[in-house]
Amino acid sequence: MMPLSRRDALRLALPFALSPSTLLAAPEDGEVPLLTLDTAAGWSSGAKVVSEAPGGGRAIAWTAPADGTVVTLSRTLDTPLRDQVARSAILRFRYRVDGPTPETLHVKIIAAPLAGGYQALFSLTIPPPGEWRETTLRVQEYSDVWGTDVTPQANGGSLQWRVGKKAGESPRLMVADLRVTPLPAGAAINRELSRETRAAGVKVKPLVTPETVMRLPDHPRLLLTAAELPAVKRRASDTEWGRAFVAGLRTRADETLAKPVALPDRGGQWFHYYACPKHGTRLRTEAPTRHVCPTGGEVFTGYPYDDVFLSTVHNRFSDAVRDLGLLYRLTGEKKYAARAREILLAYADKYLTYPLHDIKGEAKVGGGRVGPQTLDESTWLIPMAQGCDAVWDMLSAADRDTLRTKLFYPAATDVIQKHRMSIHNIQCWKNSAVGLVGLLFGDAALVSDAIDNPERGMQAQLARGITDDGPWYEGAWGYHFYTISALAPLAEAAHRCGIDLYKGPQGDRYKRFYLAPIQMAMPDGRLPAFNDSGTATANGNALYELALARWGDPALAAPLRASNRRTLHALLSGVDTLPAASAKPEPSRNFADVGYAILRGGTGESAAYLALKYGPHGGGHGHPDKLNFVLYGGGRVIADDPGTAAYGVPIQAGWYKTTLAHNTLVVDEENQKPATGKAMAFEVGEGWSAFLADAGPIYDGITFRRATFLLGADAAVFLDLVRVTDTGRPRTIDLTVHPNGVWESVGGLGAGSKPDQLPANKPGYSYLREVAAYTAAGGSEGVGDQFTATTRDPQDGRLRVATLTFSMLTEGAQGTTFFAGTGVGRNTEDRVPLLLARRRIVAGMTCFAWAVGWGKQTPAGVTLRPLTPTALAPAGVAAVRADLGNGRSFVLIANPENQAVTLHLGADPAQEEKATPRLRIKQFDYRGAATLHVSPLPFWE
Ligand SMILES: [Zn+2]
Ligand SMILES: [Zn+2]
Repeated sequence: MMPLSRRDALRLALPFALSPSTLLAAPEDGEVPLLTLDTAAGWSSGAKVVSEAPGGGRAIAWTAPADGTVVTLSRTLDTPLRDQVARSAILRFRYRVDGPTPETLHVKIIAAPLAGGYQALFSLTIPPPGEWRETTLRVQEYSDVWGTDVTPQANGGSLQWRVGKKAGESPRLMVADLRVTPLPAGAAINRELSRETRAAGVKVKPLVTPETVMRLPDHPRLLLTAAELPAVKRRASDTEWGRAFVAGLRTRADETLAKPVALPDRGGQWFHYYACPKHGTRLRTEAPTRHVCPTGGEVFTGYPYDDVFLSTVHNRFSDAVRDLGLLYRLTGEKKYAARAREILLAYADKYLTYPLHDIKGEAKVGGGRVGPQTLDESTWLIPMAQGCDAVWDMLSAADRDTLRTKLFYPAATDVIQKHRMSIHNIQCWKNSAVGLVGLLFGDAALVSDAIDNPERGMQAQLARGITDDGPWYEGAWGYHFYTISALAPLAEAAHRCGIDLYKGPQGDRYKRFYLAPIQMAMPDGRLPAFNDSGTATANGNALYELALARWGDPALAAPLRASNRRTLHALLSGVDTLPAASAKPEPSRNFADVGYAILRGGTGESAAYLALKYGPHGGGHGHPDKLNFVLYGGGRVIADDPGTAAYGVPIQAGWYKTTLAHNTLVVDEENQKPATGKAMAFEVGEGWSAFLADAGPIYDGITFRRATFLLGADAAVFLDLVRVTDTGRPRTIDLTVHPNGVWESVGGLGAGSKPDQLPANKPGYSYLREVAAYTAAGGSEGVGDQFTATTRDPQDGRLRVATLTFSMLTEGAQGTTFFAGTGVGRNTEDRVPLLLARRRIVAGMTCFAWAVGWGKQTPAGVTLRPLTPTALAPAGVAAVRADLGNGRSFVLIANPENQAVTLHLGADPAQEEKATPRLRIKQFDYRGAATLHVSPLPFWE
């Protein structure tokens, strides 16, 4: 008989048949009431004591004021209460919402020193109107910290229920049964701020002094200097890629010379307008006033389509100024400089006549004169400044003055600088534009603002926008590479002018920014499409020419091996010959700041890769997919993240931003709450690596821990431990996997049946198709209940992509239903196999032990044998033996609670191992081991 803890014994004794609305969950050890609710004193005005809690108990009721979209019910905490809350592990209460359903519901706890005295934030699920919910907030594991722009509250504190709603609506909120469980003796109160908040406090040391700007080298100094010119000329003549790039440059420049300089009479409009409203397809330009939908043939003309086309015209002129200037430097042919001057002066003549306009056509800060946003104004101005610098010696003093007063200064100071942003990819483009104008005219104030402004300068962007692991904080690779592009023009120009951002105080962080996409990539160079990101790669990105030249680290050459190097950056700064590829493969790594664990196995064509996502939610671009993973092996992606659709189309929220679309856990068919998970253990050995993570508070009353083991280069095993900690209502536990390919076989449990249990109105479920259900009764402790499913490559019938093997590793008789069907890949018609393993449990622990095997022809089969089903609960230990064929076997143990565990390897007691590690991996030859057993030691106090 399995040993039970007192707590579990108590749970099991509870009458589960009672309805959730009348049942109070079993008290945690040491739990005490927090507030008695016999008076509304201390609560927001309008709050009343009512007897409407389940069973007629007291509750606080409060009707939200109709005015406003964010309103708050608050209870002040005196100092003793504040201390009690700050020192608690758990805050439990019940709540109910009536009337119009709010859009968001949060709890904020202000109880110094918790979260440094700022607002510790928790999100609540919104129950259907009239239904009581109980929630368990892990006080020390707040999801975010707010209010850091104001002084932290040192004395007193408050509990706040923050309701986000539509103006004019008045939902009624009730709160009851507030209880807290104190922290264990000696446990510390969490004072940590979020990464963003910590970063916001980082101060940067100024790099720019008036003296630096006094000592600027002669022009040219933005794209190249006179000292660099001989080397650039040599690359242009002696390397294949240099010759090819310059030939293209000359062709483009000669085409420009053949046409008159005819600037548009107005500025351009937003590129995002240039799509067919019906099909969403990007339009094709047939003439400046004729724009055609390639899908349906619709023809568009007039505003905004004609104006979007003008943006393209303006950008062509600006690129031409840079190209002409550079070609003049390379060839000395004055005709190129003369044409660059002509375009520059034409813009000086026109610029102030272009009205300031934003994407709505309004004359507002944030808009531009040439483009509709300061972003477009900046990307247009940067090549203009680079070209002007290159032809400086061909400009008269009067020309320079005209360009300064009528073009560059109005753009940099009146348009771009007036629009103030903080840490953001767009601000990086603006810094480059302002900084280049400053370096062009030797203006210390502009250069200093672009580089050293403490709120938004380039150094602040590097210090606060780049995470400790290297990825850009906005959480999607698209923004990462866009920001790399935005920073480069200023970093390069400043470097030539003696201001070194590469080797400066933020230099190491800047380098990690370039290294991260290499270190985190799959073996084929692609990055997982986590959050609002499509697939992305550093491969072929020419900006790595700059990184390699400035830091000299051969690791930075990896993305260039996929490039033909016929690029501007290679010509200006590239090394002649790329350093040899490192023989040392990337290691398995835990990126703790962004929360990605990357496990690697094998090398070359058989390299395997597993990226597990457990960290911060990722703000507005985050997906609710804690402990989701992407798996790669045998030269292909085996299980993927579907990525993202265009923002605003229904399938973005309906599928891509659902938990179901990911390889993780869904409870009660709802999306996970935004949460930050935790790394619990990370182990690497010869031929294997393993990681154990906790998902954090993704659902009320649920603990989810995933141990993942990458074994060799052709198998991965997962031990997914799910514990239900609030009793009284049955929970639906869905584990989902999306293997690539098409279904070949689904078996072990007889023929499938048409499911009748999948909902149409829950996030993501309506996108499932061709679903069949298979039921396993449960209760077995052997291998008899294995469920196996295999996918194959649709193009090559012999090529199996993946075989998934599930083993029923569980406490007691819990049946499992498997749903095999298809979900959505890159679009609704791209069908990707989906396997969903479902259990329903009321309390206690369940473990899904499962494996994926893959291979070129036949995937490596993995047989899982549960070693100690009875040991699982309540100790929370899962142990399996995984037989991979070829005599390779592993004992795998996940033990998140550090229970004492004994591993018996055969009859010889000398082979017995006693330990309490959170992860244990032991490879052995099963032919020599007669018996194998794992048992937990007694853990009664
Ligand atoms: Zn169309
Ligand atoms: Zn996603």
